[in-house]
Order: sequence, then C-alpha cells, then structure tokens
Amino acid sequence: MANFSPAFLDEVVARSDLVEIISRHVDLKKSGSNMMGLCPFHHEKSPSFSVSPDKQLYYCFGCGQGGGAFQFLIQHDGYSFPEAVEYLAEKAGMEVPQDRDRSPVAEAKQKQAYAMLAQAADAMGRALRSEEGSAARAYLQQRGMPTDIIRDYGLGYAPAGYGFMQKVFGNDARSNSQLEAVGLLFKGEHGYGDRFRDRLMFSIRDRRGRIVGFGGRVLGQGEPKYLNSPETDWFHKSDLLYGFSEHRDSIRKSKQLVVVEGYMDVLGMAVHGLKIALAPLGTAIGERQIREILRLCDSPVFSFDGDRAGRQAAWRALERMMPLLKSELRPRFLYLPEGEDPDSLLRREGKDAFQHRLDKESKPVLETWLMGLQLLAGHGADGRARMAKKADAMLATMTDTYLSQAWRQEVEQATGIVLQQARRRPQARASSQPSPTPAQPSAQARLNAVEERFLAALMQQSARFRDLPDEAISFFVDNEIISPLYSRAFSIIAEAEDDNTDIARQLAQEYPDSQTMISRWVNQATVQDIEFKSLLLDMEANDIRLRIKRGLSLVEAIPMQHRLREIQQEQRRLTEQLHETGA
Ligand SMILES: [Zn+2]
Repeated sequence: MANFSPAFLDEVVARSDLVEIISRHVDLKKSGSNMMGLCPFHHEKSPSFSVSPDKQLYYCFGCGQGGGAFQFLIQHDGYSFPEAVEYLAEKAGMEVPQDRDRSPVAEAKQKQAYAMLAQAADAMGRALRSEEGSAARAYLQQRGMPTDIIRDYGLGYAPAGYGFMQKVFGNDARSNSQLEAVGLLFKGEHGYGDRFRDRLMFSIRDRRGRIVGFGGRVLGQGEPKYLNSPETDWFHKSDLLYGFSEHRDSIRKSKQLVVVEGYMDVLGMAVHGLKIALAPLGTAIGERQIREILRLCDSPVFSFDGDRAGRQAAWRALERMMPLLKSELRPRFLYLPEGEDPDSLLRREGKDAFQHRLDKESKPVLETWLMGLQLLAGHGADGRARMAKKADAMLATMTDTYLSQAWRQEVEQATGIVLQQARRRPQARASSQPSPTPAQPSAQARLNAVEERFLAALMQQSARFRDLPDEAISFFVDNEIISPLYSRAFSIIAEAEDDNTDIARQLAQEYPDSQTMISRWVNQATVQDIEFKSLLLDMEANDIRLRIKRGLSLVEAIPMQHRLREIQQEQRRLTEQLHETGA
C-alpha cells in the first residue's frame, strides 16, 4: 500500500462525497439515515446495498462488499489504491504528494502512456474528419453511423503510408520509443513505422474509460481485416471487452447484455439505441471475460454466427463458462442466420425484430449444451456412449453441485446411460473455486449476534462510547480482530477535542482491512437507545459469566453474581418499557 499520510487520506475522504460517487452507478433512495439501492456487485431484485452518508461507508447485506470511497473505486471501477486516492484528491482540488512506494519513473511512464494514447485517438479522430479520411467516412456512412456515435466511441482514421504518428508526436528517439511501447509504432529494419495504416480505428478503453489500445479495420482489400494493438503493460486483450466502460451502466439499468463478435456489431446495436453489447477483442472469449459478463448481468445472451465456425465458437465459450455457472445465472445462446450479424440484421429487420430474436430465439445454456453434445457425439449406441463420456468430463468442471446434478440427470435421460462421475465423486467439490462474485475482503471477526449489534450501536453513534461503564473496556479482549479496533476507539474518544469525532470514519481510515466490517455496522438497521441499553447489559452479563467460568476467588465471585442478578432485573424492566412503548 502506498505511503500517503493518514492526515492526507482523511482530508481526501472528508472532501469527497461517497453518495455522489455511487449515485453515478446506482439509484439510491433515502431509507432512515442511510440510502439504499440495488447492489452493483451482485444481482438482486430488492435493494440490500446501503450507503451511510454520515459515515461515508457503504455495505451490501447480500454479498458482503463494503468500504469507503477508495474501496468503491477499487472494487467497482477497477482503480488501484494510489489511483483512487489520486483521482479523489484531484477532484477535490488537492495537491497529491509523491507516492514513495511507486517509482516516480514508472508512474510518470504510465501517465505518459495514457496521455499519448488519448492524444493519438484525438489525432485519428481529426484525420477521420479531414480530406484523407473520406473513404473511412464513406464506409461509416454506408453502415449508418451517426456523428454522435463516431465521437462518443472515439472512432478515427489512421492514414495510409508511414509517418502519421511522428507527425503528431515528433520524430525523435524518445517519442519513437514511447510510441513503440504503447503499440503505435513498430521497429523494422529501416527504423520506426506506423503500426496502423489506412485503417478505420476503434478506441479500446479499460474499465475506467481510459484508452488503452486500438483496433483497426482495413478499408478495402488487405490482410488482416482487423488489426489490434499488441499486448502492452496497459493492453491485455483477454482482460478487456469492447464497449465495457461505455455500456456498463446501461447494461445494469436494462438488465440486458448481448455478447457479439466484433466492434461494428457493438456500434451497430448502439446506433439502434441498444447500448448493451460487448465484444471480445478479436479473439475467442475467455474465462476472465465471461466472469466479468456474468458479474454484470445474470442473463446475458451470447450471440454467434449460425455457421460451423460459429457453432464451434459457441461450444468453446460454453466449455469456459461451465466452471462459472450457478443456478441463479441464466446465460442464453443465440445463433444468427448464416451470413448475418447483429448489425446487418438490425439494418434489415429493425430493432423490434432483433429484440424478438434475443428474447424468443435464444436458447438456455442447458439446451445449447445438450444440442452441442448430440452434434459432437453422433447417432446410435456409440454416439450415446460418447455423449455420456464427454458430458461426464464437462460436468466435472462445474462448481455448483446442485446445478451439475440437475444437468447430469438431463444427460442420463437423453442417453439412457448412468454417468460414472455421479458414483465416483458424490460429495461436493471444493468451494474454493473462484466464483463470479468478488471475494470477501480480509479481516472477518467471529462475533455473536449481541456483539454484532453492540458494535453497530457504538459505530452508529460515537457518543455512546462516552456512556460506557468502566468494565466495558474489557469486552472483546479475546477477539484478535476486534480488540485493537475497540480499544483504539476508547483512545480516540479520550483524545477528541470536541464531540464531533466520528469513531467509525476514523477507524475505517486507520484499519483499512476492517473497513468492510465497519461499513456493515454503520449500514445495518439503526440501533435505538433502548436496544443499546439492553445490548450493553447483555454484553456485561456475558463478560461476567466468562470471568466466572475462568475461575475467580469466592471474594471476587460474590459481587459478580450479585451484579448478574441486577442485570437480569434491569433487563426485565427494559422489556416492560419496550412493551409499553409498543416497540
Ligand atoms: Zn451485493
């Protein structure tokens, strides 16, 4: 982790507005002192994602993601910690101190790379609008691309011949080698040359919307039809999806996602108002990309060409998808008529007919799997045996055991063969397999229900720390995770100059590993004063019982027993009071 000073981080958080950051992606509605919305980290129909504007912490009671402004940018938008700090600091108009953990050289290099890629995209956009871009413009016009799509998706033109990039950036050794590093120039026998020449250019952005590479489509004849930036430190084809940063929010809102083959399909759909398409970058779709897709939408439609190559591609996607499938996910497969793609269909049939195809002609993943198996295995008794064998092997990769059992039965019914795997390995597979839901962050303390609510009560209202009796300092001494937080809270209160000190916010800053837990406390249902009193008595009683159990002298034990009886009486009074107030 970077070496930003705690005071600086405090200041950044204090000047940031978590509700504003989250509202860009989630519709938040007021609910008591917190805001609630549909979780952006998992699929849900009723809101369990809570944001506390007071404490500047969010928590999802469905999937357990939680934290503050930095965490949200990291978990949701894919920022690194220093990037998140920098982003918020700059937004708040603060000077960002030099991060001593990162080499200034590497940092400067990275910044320069992004700036260079953005500048290159601008230059290509200008070239598209200029005289030399007329053929590319004609092609876009023929495909029905309006200017707002051309601008929003950063389309451009790389002119024919060599020297375009050097004209933009200068032809010196330094910028040449930088241009080579970002994949815009290649080094040949006769020096540096433009990688993209006479091509229609597509800007490829990362999750944060930064341009990290390009795809270039040849105009007229020539090979390859599509050329992409080479793999660089910033451009990893297997991690990226074309359209992701542009379409993420509209996919979440519409709960619709279509995986298409190419850049023009993504744009063609956007032209018709369907900003829900993503495409891999010219390679077969991989596990990381499928994971990202399933995280974004629980019922994506994977579209493929109806020809043999398309069916093979669908099968490969299905194989990669098997380990990630869960019963609550409903991916579908759509085969398009031969020789058609989403773009051509939309232009010929219109939006409604295309939407009808997505809804009615796409097949559930199970059906696609069974059909694929049958096709692969052929007919007759041999075919059925081959089908069972192949199914067995594929089922073994599944991690959702209920789903794999259900699928197993389907295959057994179709083939009349009892699968081997069922007998060999009836027990659940290790659940340590990565799942489409993000992993739980660190520090998870063991807490019983009383302890959980008690901590929530304290974190929700810092002033309650002041009202704690002296004995309370010994609560949680055996809990390795809670104990340091809890005793630090006492010292924060003692050091505080005024009553405005917020324990939760301060602890979340000082103990980043415990931020999720703290977020959970502040975002859960508000603990009213009367419940807090009762919780405090429960905590005290439990503490006494623990001490008695550990062995006390008679002299010590007698007053303890006495206090326990008092607590019980007080509890009864509180219960009566609760009944009276009708709570
Ligand atoms: Zn969630």
